[in-house]
Amino acid sequence: MGKIMVMSDSLANKIAAGEVVERPASVVKELVENAIDAGSKRIEIEVEDGGLTLIRVADDGEGMDAEDLEKAFLRHATSKMRSERDLFRITTLGFRGEALPSIAAVSKVEVATRSRDQLLAHTISLEGNKVIRTSQTPHPFGTEIWVRDLFFNTPARLKYLKSVQTENHHIQDIVNRLALAHPDISIRLINDGKEILKTAGTGDLLTVIHTIYGLEIAKKMIPIQGEHLDFHIDGFIGKPEITRGSRAYISFLVNGRFVRSNLLQRAILDGYHTLLPVNRYPFAVIQLRMDPTLVDVNVHPSKLEVRFSKEEELAKWMKEQVKRRLLYSSLIPESNLTDRRKRQHSEQDRFDLHWKVNESLPFNAFAEPPDSPSINIETSVRLEEKKVEEDVTENYSSQNMEEIDRLNARQVAPLLEPLAQLHGTYILAQNEEGLYIIDQHAAQERINYERFRQLLGSPSKDRQILAIAYTYELTSSEAEIIRNSDSLLREIGIIQEPFGDRSFLVREIPNWFIKGKEEAQIDEIIQLILQGKGRFTLADIRDKSAQLMACKASIKANQHLSREEMRSLLHQLSLVGNPYTCPHGRPILVHFSLYEIEKLFKRVM
Ligand code: ADP
Ligand code: MG
Repeated sequence: MGKIMVMSDSLANKIAAGEVVERPASVVKELVENAIDAGSKRIEIEVEDGGLTLIRVADDGEGMDAEDLEKAFLRHATSKMRSERDLFRITTLGFRGEALPSIAAVSKVEVATRSRDQLLAHTISLEGNKVIRTSQTPHPFGTEIWVRDLFFNTPARLKYLKSVQTENHHIQDIVNRLALAHPDISIRLINDGKEILKTAGTGDLLTVIHTIYGLEIAKKMIPIQGEHLDFHIDGFIGKPEITRGSRAYISFLVNGRFVRSNLLQRAILDGYHTLLPVNRYPFAVIQLRMDPTLVDVNVHPSKLEVRFSKEEELAKWMKEQVKRRLLYSSLIPESNLTDRRKRQHSEQDRFDLHWKVNESLPFNAFAEPPDSPSINIETSVRLEEKKVEEDVTENYSSQNMEEIDRLNARQVAPLLEPLAQLHGTYILAQNEEGLYIIDQHAAQERINYERFRQLLGSPSKDRQILAIAYTYELTSSEAEIIRNSDSLLREIGIIQEPFGDRSFLVREIPNWFIKGKEEAQIDEIIQLILQGKGRFTLADIRDKSAQLMACKASIKANQHLSREEMRSLLHQLSLVGNPYTCPHGRPILVHFSLYEIEKLFKRVM
């Protein structure tokens, strides 16, 4: 019996129809999604000339019978939706019944398909959506589809396409995301006869990350899991030491579907907060699961964007999860010195090289080089995960942000004994785990930043009256913003009054303003409020001015520190919430383990 039905007009009118076949990568996406929906365990994709000459997708899914094979090419014919109610609980990747007819309209298509109960496969050939031929032939279980001469009958579309290389990048990108979304399916991509990607299909996400991004990245991913009344996340976030200049390495998979979401991206970045250097972005692969009724996938023609019904709540929760996870991970970069010596070109170097060569690539599609050592990354990451997990359950039960801030105050950095100062810039220190090199300016900046942030957060109590009121003048539009920000200024502890149209008289300031720099600090805060066009909240101002002040108040490089000063700095560092990076995301300390030092001196092999 056939499974495919043609939708009623009223249902067809409710779907967000649009142009599905924009470029070869969209064809690949639709065909692979069909294979996934058919319950496949193995999918092979082959493309030639950026997909223009050939796109072939073969799967081992449920296949189709002869009747369905012809119906599949009718518009709005689908086996995935029966009634309008189904539109609100979509569990398949496809649901519009549009892809196959749209693809067939602009190419020459051939399909061979065989379900488990058929002896021979049925085949069909179409050209510009007209059936040319049908027949039967021996063929493995599943479906194989060949799309040839894409856009042969729409020269305008063809002209709009970029170079073969660009189209290949888009195809690789989409296949990578599909593979990340489905670690349980073995996905293979062959490009002009060359294997570009092959995932194992073992169901392990980290293995897929390893295959796509390489070993060094996989080793630096932190597992993240979270359970909420309505949502569930599972995935990996990169340690802040591995970043890229683009957001393309953050992937969200919602119920097995890769989606773009500025909201969720923002939530992740907010979770990292100052752990990231300016304009650098982390790696993250987040699998998000929720009841299908809570997410509307019928809003975008290529189904790349979705709408969440509890989006504010979701974003807030995601941010908390990321923040909390990073808080409980040891983020001190390891020196890696010995490894590098041994292998002249480490994986990371190779990765960086690939990256340089392929800077235009939105997503690194290069699989692990074949001669790389096979290290069991899974075990090491899993072990760390277990340790951290125990830590989390022991120390953390509530999901409340206040709680996290309080936890921030607990001692997380190791307490270190200073040994010496190097070039007036670095502190050498030790504990039983080995040697540490600390950037004194970065450390001081972090300590000051956290102190100022606290001070800015609970300011109003201790104010001082200025003996001589400080006057400043602005343009009239700026003055308007500042007049409207009076309550914010009061919260910070700055009491002022308007003086004419464009000037202000500051009468009182917080006690903790740095002596001798009071006026500069007032100016800084005013500038920040103006930068935010009055839309910054107290928290924003708190954060940004704390960063500015911390930098100004910190000891610079090339400044001699006595043993006592070093000890005091290291003690303060051991108490801050985040002892790993300065507020701009640069690392504060680097660790050389004893083992590594012993390896350098060949005491161990
Ligand atoms: P949709 O995926 O939205 O249903 P499509 O045009 O992509 O629409 O496919 C139409 C129908 O053809 C699907 O509903 C499905 O029943 C069938 N089909 C397509 N590709 C496959 C495949 N690889 N294996 C089995 N059935 C398929
Ligand atoms: Mg489909």
